[in-house]
Amino acid sequence: MRISDNLQSINQQISKACERSNRNPENVSIIAVTKYVSVETTQEAVDSGIVHLGENRDEGFIHKYEQVTGHVKWHFIGTLQSRKVKSIIDKVDYIHSLDRLSLAKEIHKRTNRKVKCFVQVNVSEEKSKHGVSADELIEFVQQLEKYDSIEIIGLMTMAPHIKDEKVLRRIFQKTRHLQQKVQHLNLSNAPCTELSMGMSNDYSIAVEEGATFVRIGTSLVGNERK
Ligand SMILES: *Cc1c(COP(=O)(O)O)cnc(C)c1O
Repeated sequence: MRISDNLQSINQQISKACERSNRNPENVSIIAVTKYVSVETTQEAVDSGIVHLGENRDEGFIHKYEQVTGHVKWHFIGTLQSRKVKSIIDKVDYIHSLDRLSLAKEIHKRTNRKVKCFVQVNVSEEKSKHGVSADELIEFVQQLEKYDSIEIIGLMTMAPHIKDEKVLRRIFQKTRHLQQKVQHLNLSNAPCTELSMGMSNDYSIAVEEGATFVRIGTSLVGNERK
């Protein structure tokens, strides 16, 4: 498997999805999710032209951060425990999993710069999933205003592992509506223009519904643990 071939075919799928939805493919960034692969494979991804890398655990994140060379933007995409914030906060470019005030408080305490964050929303209302519910989102975002090191650049969601296109599409649409709602609050720390949604199985639908960041692991860099 060559990552550059996978990247080419994913780029083609994204272009087609953009054509179907009248979007510009330049507004869709691919994050290579490298949690299941080695440093060597991750380096191959960067050497193939991938800029955005995503990891979901602090150890994996720090390991890749220290070993991989080149021009990389680092995304933390997994559930973030407050006690792990200290170890990653000066290394991340984006956090996709802001889902509670205590985490915002800890981020604010541990850094002096502005950190680009996505609020993770649980639109499918699956109990197993992290994220702020649709009902609580607006109040949550308003409460974040006092933490001025946090910049809410958008919303992130994870769709359930299902094949039903209609259900997936509805989840992505709902997330986009919530994103627009937050954007229109015009809060100084919440431009909220971005949508982080879509993974290996559903990124084409996510792009049709407005994703600006897709997080792709298996179908881009593979899974070396299988
Ligand atoms: C693992 C993971 C992905 C990528 O999953 P694939 O199905 O391998 O593409 C995307 N987002 C998050 C939050 C993940 O944990």
